[in-house]
Amino acid sequence: MGCSWCDLDNSSNYFIYTSEHFNVYLSEDQSLLGRLILVLNRHASSLSDLTSEEIQDFFSNVKIIEKTLAESFGATMFNWSCLMNNSYKEQPCFPHVHWHCRPPYAHDVSFTGQVFSDPDFAHHYNNKRKLTVSSEVQHMIITSIRTSIKNNFTIL
Ligand SMILES: [Zn+2]
Repeated sequence: MGCSWCDLDNSSNYFIYTSEHFNVYLSEDQSLLGRLILVLNRHASSLSDLTSEEIQDFFSNVKIIEKTLAESFGATMFNWSCLMNNSYKEQPCFPHVHWHCRPPYAHDVSFTGQVFSDPDFAHHYNNKRKLTVSSEVQHMIITSIRTSIKNNFTIL
């Protein structure tokens, strides 16, 4: 068994888009609507291993994603985290640089007839609160994100 992040590619049902150095996937957990994950396209174990070009591409993705999640779902703000803890739970471990983007909401959002609430708004996220959506809703979230990106950026 190797690195599970390296095994991910654009054939995943969670794949949203790819940039020069990152693949972007919807998170399985949609307790914050539009939560997604940016995964470096090569195996690197630490932020300090990233090149200047990769950091620049990361920042371009931050701009794309924040505008997109605000426009698509009305996200109020954005929390970004680069957490490697899970990689070290098993041996051998394969830490692989990735970021989680959690978009908190000051208000409820109705999307595809489902209401998404954020009871922890303005507080540290509650990692016990998880929400898995149906594959149909998941597909609609991804489509909505892609449509917004196409409308505002030339990356797709
Ligand atoms: Zn990897």
